[in-house]
Amino acid sequence: MPTSLDTAYIGRFAPSPTGPLHFGSLLAAIASYLQARTANGQWLLRIEDIDPPREQAGADKLILDTLESYGFEWDGPVTYQSHFHEHHAASIAKLIASGVAYRCCCSRRDLARVARGPLGAIYPGTCRNGCESSNVAIRVRTHNDPVTFTDRLQGPQSMRLESESGDFVIRRRDGLVAYHLAVVQDDAEQGITEVVRGIDLLNTTPRHIHLQSLLDIPTPSYVHIPVAENAEGQKLSKLTGAAAISATRAGTTLVAALAALGQSTYKELCKESLQEIWAWALAHWQLSALERQENIAPQHYC
Ligand code: GLU
Repeated sequence: MPTSLDTAYIGRFAPSPTGPLHFGSLLAAIASYLQARTANGQWLLRIEDIDPPREQAGADKLILDTLESYGFEWDGPVTYQSHFHEHHAASIAKLIASGVAYRCCCSRRDLARVARGPLGAIYPGTCRNGCESSNVAIRVRTHNDPVTFTDRLQGPQSMRLESESGDFVIRRRDGLVAYHLAVVQDDAEQGITEVVRGIDLLNTTPRHIHLQSLLDIPTPSYVHIPVAENAEGQKLSKLTGAAAISATRAGTTLVAALAALGQSTYKELCKESLQEIWAWALAHWQLSALERQENIAPQHYC
């Protein structure tokens, strides 16, 4: 473990407390951790608890305990996204005041028949010129100049937001801040320089870059890693019934995860202590091993 931290690199792992850590989220934790540590940088832990209806009581504690039993060491205190509600609300107010965000009265039913893109319904702009209701979402205006960025694993990306996503929600009708606004703002306030997360979020990144430009905040670099899939080819998630990772077999699960991340592990590593496994991982971490992988199947490696 490096002793002096280089503050130039700040990475993070930002799990939502919707359930215990599963193999797929472990891969994102490991990849973001090794990217930060091999850059001699900081690795922050942020619990994204902004969607109570989807959350599971106690999941934050389970996630933290599991990370600890796997030997992850984060910098500074764990932060909770819900503690930044006032900051999120201030940004939403700023976007409304400058005319780039507006009230939207459309219901789910109103949007059921509109065209769909990679991110769901493409909002047709129905309420762009105003609407009156006490029950509104807030949307941010988009345009059709391509939003482009180069993902460090997935290469050049481009999206025309207006035609491919439409104006998108930054505050939901139930009053909760949307993930897109919260993640962009918190990453900026925490000084995150590189975001490492699952490829399932690649399509949302143009929205994030659009918001960064409207809020005049920097764009970090992005690394979207392949997601772990089950035998049926479904992304491992709470929805597809992914099992919690074992806290008692941390060493062998860690080696299996490193193997799944394309690292050149070897069987004897399975017998080593957690400390030895991390030391090996730090000395041998190659992000580029993930370049040719589209998805990852959990392996019984050890
Ligand atoms: N909270 C998100 C999740 O658990 C990750 C968000 C991100 O890394 O940007 O899927």
